[in-house]
Amino acid sequence: MTSQCLFCRIAAGEIPSTEVYSNPRVYAFRDINPAAPQHILVIPRKHLHSLNAAAPEDQALLGELLTSAREIAHQQGFAEDGYRVVINTGDMGGQTVFHIHVHVLSGRHLNWPPG
Ligand code: 5GP
Ligand code: ZN
Repeated sequence: MTSQCLFCRIAAGEIPSTEVYSNPRVYAFRDINPAAPQHILVIPRKHLHSLNAAAPEDQALLGELLTSAREIAHQQGFAEDGYRVVINTGDMGGQTVFHIHVHVLSGRHLNWPPG
């Protein structure tokens, strides 16, 4: 827990969020400014600044972010329609919150390439 980090504080329940999924290692909640009808953020409870900060010992945790995304897609009912999973990394990648997070987007046709 990094007390200055917004997403650490959300995972700890210090800042309110709309929970979608939770387990001892992972927390998922609705994005405050959704870019699609379904826009969920999946985060590890452990603070990692970005994908760049992930070490070999984080391999299982990174995998669990993806299996959690799949679980959420099924629970929320958009797995079959389809969805997009994104990890923005660093300035040019569009990352604005520096606690690693997986965006899960669905509910409309998503364009490619992204802007
Ligand atoms: P990034 O741009 O870093 O990939 O994504 C950060 C995301 O966090 C954005 O989509 C933004 O809307 C979302 N966000 C920022 N602050 C908050 C907050 O306080 N609560 C929630 N639920 N989402 C947030
Ligand atoms: Zn954090």
